[in-house]
Amino acid sequence: MKRTGTRTGILLLFCVLLTALQLPVFAEEEPEIDEVVEYIELDGEDDIAFPAEDISGNAVLLSYQSFTPQWGSPYEGQDPTLNYWTLPMDITDEAAVWQVLTQPITVLSGNFKRAERTQITVRAEKSLDSEGVGVVTCETQGVHVLEREKDWSLIECYSSSFHDSKVVNWNVLIQGYVQTKYLKEVKPNQKIGFVIDKLTQRMYIFREGKLFSTLLVSTGLSNARQPYNETRSGEFLLTTRVGDFKSDNMTCRIALRFNSGDLLHEVPYVYSRTDAGYRKQEEALGTRASHGCIRVQRKMTPEGINMQWIYDHHAKNTRLLLWEDWQGRQIPYPADDSKVYYHPGKMEYYHSQETCYCYGKTLKTRLEPIRYGELDTEPYASLTRCPYCAPPLRKAEIDEINELHAVGSDHDPVLTEAREYCPMDGPTFQKTIWKKK
Ligand SMILES: [Zn+2]
Repeated sequence: MKRTGTRTGILLLFCVLLTALQLPVFAEEEPEIDEVVEYIELDGEDDIAFPAEDISGNAVLLSYQSFTPQWGSPYEGQDPTLNYWTLPMDITDEAAVWQVLTQPITVLSGNFKRAERTQITVRAEKSLDSEGVGVVTCETQGVHVLEREKDWSLIECYSSSFHDSKVVNWNVLIQGYVQTKYLKEVKPNQKIGFVIDKLTQRMYIFREGKLFSTLLVSTGLSNARQPYNETRSGEFLLTTRVGDFKSDNMTCRIALRFNSGDLLHEVPYVYSRTDAGYRKQEEALGTRASHGCIRVQRKMTPEGINMQWIYDHHAKNTRLLLWEDWQGRQIPYPADDSKVYYHPGKMEYYHSQETCYCYGKTLKTRLEPIRYGELDTEPYASLTRCPYCAPPLRKAEIDEINELHAVGSDHDPVLTEAREYCPMDGPTFQKTIWKKK
């Protein structure tokens, strides 16, 4: 992978050609403001080949605690307050997560048409002539203000570049300047908030201070040809109800907008002569699969939550924390004596809770408990994970994910290819940033 000269040259040429082909010329709607970038509708998801093996995996209860969204930033450790950027990625610390979910969020805002589809360039220097280091989506994307001055402020965020953004820096943690006049504080929904962790591919529903329910999701799956499929991390506000949309041979229902073309929606229905329906996409939940949107499970958790519930109960400005799967983050094993459940008469799935919608809507079936440590022994070794109630992964599956994310592992050839593809000379695909020890 780390070869040189000729190959780099060919790749660069390839990138330049591709970039030239892919960047359509659009009339900007706000031509008088030169840092505003408008780009095309990206609501759709193309058909996508699913990998033979999961590259992320369905996952578990805890996250490795020493990583924050600001990991590796030159400003790391300088902000004494608790906020999205300084919050350890530990879903079990409910009080800290809830504090962040409900505190005010700083977004960029201006008098733009279609503001939620407008992006502002983050500059290397305090000048509109200065080079762009990344882009921020207006109204919905939170930014970390590092220095606030009268005209320009230094901010930090993950660049929300899409394939056709003016500055191409896909999902890289950036620091740079925006005009202070665009900064605005918004008070988010105080009753409910969401966390989505790319490492575990799960969505955690917080309600009035507590982790209330856990759902399986699929975030973006990047590849060498489409590195921009990676779902952009950061903190966001869920705003507009977009509803249903069609994309190629799929229908994606009940979508909510959180980052321009990146939407939260129900796992897609596929039209196909041979395999129509939800099955294939539902099986992929818990692993990466989309083109950048976040697919959420349709099946109901024991708490009665699914994408339909989220859509029906949506209140504008609900906060979503989206955690990056920084290399080095690891999923710990659940305690051996923690409980999982099974149905002695069916011996099909293992479950996270005593009742499950898997066995009908009445929730009257009481399941039998076993210890997590017994899962790999007979007769439980053949039980598979229930697709409704997000039980923990088996140890072997956790090992597989952790190996992929271990520091120094030459992990994930898909993402390695994506790095080489990146047409920018300076900022690189973020997965490299912290491979430097
Ligand atoms: Zn279940």
